[in-house]
Amino acid sequence: MQADPTLSLDLSGALQESKQLADATKPGSDRWDVIVVGSGAAGGMAAYLLAMNGIKVLMLEAGRMIDVKTEYRTMEWPSIRRNRLAPGERTVAIAEYNFLDRPYGSNAAYEKSDKVMSYAGNKFTRNWVVDERQHPTTGTPYAWVRARILGGRTNFWGRGALRYGPMQFNAASRDGFDIDWPITYDDVKPYYDKVDVLLGCSGTNEGLDQVPDGVYQRPSKLNCVEVAFKRSIAKMGRHYIPGRAGVTTEGVLNKYRARCAGRGRCGRGCNLQASFHSPTALVYPARDSGNLTVRPYSVVSEVLVDAATNRASGVRVIDANTREVMDFTARVVVLGAGTLDSTRILLNSRSRAYPNGVGNSSGLLGCYLSEHIMGIRGSGYIPARIGTETTLDDGRPVAPYIPRFRNVTDKHPDFIRGYHFQGGGGCAEYPSMAHDITGYGKAFKSNVRKYYPAIISFGGFGEVLPRKENRVLLDPDVKDAWGIPVLRFDYRFGDNELKMAKDMGDSIEEMLHVAGAEDIKVDRDPLPPGWSIHEIGTARMGDDPRTSVTDRSCRLHDVKNVYLADASPFVCGGTQNTTWSILAMAWRTMDVLKERLRTGDA
Ligand SMILES: Cc1cc2nc3c(=O)[nH]c(=O)nc-3n(C[C@H](O)[C@H](O)[C@H](O)COP(=O)(O)OP(=O)(O)OC[C@H]3O[C@@H](n4cnc5c(N)ncnc54)[C@H](O)[C@@H]3O)c2cc1C
Ligand code: SF4
Repeated sequence: MQADPTLSLDLSGALQESKQLADATKPGSDRWDVIVVGSGAAGGMAAYLLAMNGIKVLMLEAGRMIDVKTEYRTMEWPSIRRNRLAPGERTVAIAEYNFLDRPYGSNAAYEKSDKVMSYAGNKFTRNWVVDERQHPTTGTPYAWVRARILGGRTNFWGRGALRYGPMQFNAASRDGFDIDWPITYDDVKPYYDKVDVLLGCSGTNEGLDQVPDGVYQRPSKLNCVEVAFKRSIAKMGRHYIPGRAGVTTEGVLNKYRARCAGRGRCGRGCNLQASFHSPTALVYPARDSGNLTVRPYSVVSEVLVDAATNRASGVRVIDANTREVMDFTARVVVLGAGTLDSTRILLNSRSRAYPNGVGNSSGLLGCYLSEHIMGIRGSGYIPARIGTETTLDDGRPVAPYIPRFRNVTDKHPDFIRGYHFQGGGGCAEYPSMAHDITGYGKAFKSNVRKYYPAIISFGGFGEVLPRKENRVLLDPDVKDAWGIPVLRFDYRFGDNELKMAKDMGDSIEEMLHVAGAEDIKVDRDPLPPGWSIHEIGTARMGDDPRTSVTDRSCRLHDVKNVYLADASPFVCGGTQNTTWSILAMAWRTMDVLKERLRTGDA
């Protein structure tokens, strides 16, 4: 049997454009006010805000350009591939729901996780996810999902768009652990509002302290089985609300984007550009301003600091293809390469003045790595829907969600902070619950139909406490394919996370029991560290340079013209997914920088 040709893409247009742009942009080929490193949520937002305000920006992106028309593939129907797949591959399941290969090298710690459904590295996203052989890591196992391509991981992010609230910014005041952020929710709220309006966010206002409301467009609705479940857990004082999606359902002022058509295959990149993807939402409009130059294939290895002025003169770039080493200069450097890659660049920026890396005078650069513990999940069949008509329940950009309920108004005896659940039910495009139904023939089919409308399943995201000992360092021996030292992880879940994970499993079981669910299944094993893809905190912000890396405007204490636009300065992250906070914080930081550039203080 021949492999399906529709699974291979013609990338020649994107590759040609990438080469042309890289060849055309050399040190001295133009003058730029600001260098922005990376083009994902952080780099995209930074470049957009600066370029739209008349500031000349050079965006240096390690990966290639993307052809969104060819590479985003939400309109493709997997079942058309019947009988056209390579040997051993099955329709739907292989293309959509399984990993192709374990993407995290041959580390035995991931042995159990090679078939986690639908997260990253499937057929549709494999051209974007990095090859671990070129990008190894060392130390404790960490599933560091990276995408070196214009737009980074925003091309296939999960669209869960949640805000941090006062409970995150003041977390230490509430439970005594670690320190508060030096800024409050009120400082960032206006920027969350602006992000909602600029990019479009679908959701409902619920008035919950644990997850603040936003400026929302039309929400998705709970389906029948979810409404039944919502009513049941409401008796426990818990909420079950439509997911908040970084998706425009009513349209935004952006010629590259259209509103959501509710087809539901968003994880492969949304052809309609309803989902927030940095290229169409931020980079292309910024480029249209005439103030943004994008240079792909530009692997930034370090920030260059002029010893005489203690100011960054620019960055060193290794061309990803030619290996040519080039120094680009500008008045200001903004790092938005993602929490861990920005930290790596700073750690690698070593000089006589900064032998341990720029920004590391406190010795804390790389420390306090945090993300979410996840993998604890469960499912059951809600009786009110067993044996009822099947309905068309698919086609939402995100699933509903159960906001945090632990340590909100009460105090849990075993752990601090909390977790939330994401997940839903009803008749999805593919009845994956059928895999768990025994039998064959007519009886099997009728059982699948009977239980299809009644399934509900969800999984938890728990806050990992920011602890100094959870950190990354540069590996002294191992280098990546471009000769840059790789990150060595020293990161483990602690007692608080493990107790929280146990409670997640108990809570799932309890809620499904309260809902009268049949055939309750609970998976209590956490996935390996890193799986949440929500890494934050390795260059934390603070007012005291002895205990923090950046100030409250995300500017390095050490060198005053270097800013961080990603989640590396975050102090802690709550249960919420990270991207909407990256976008809001980057906007806030760029507002400060813009003003400093205007007054000559940058
Ligand atoms: C499958 C999946 C599901 C997700 N679901 C959600 C979700 O539901 N909600 C949510 O909030 N978040 C989610 N995320 C996480 C989200 O994608 C990230 O939070 C977000 O993309 C981070 O933005 P960033 O700009 O910091 O990093 P990235 O998006 O990773 O962008 C970093 C960019 O920097 C470039 N770069 C890296 N190193 C260098 C270098 N040395 N030189 C030059 N360029 C460099 C990269 O090539 C990349 O383009 C998900 C991620 C994945 C993969
Ligand atoms: S459901 Fe909406 S966001 Fe998702 S792929 Fe379809 S149009 Fe895009």
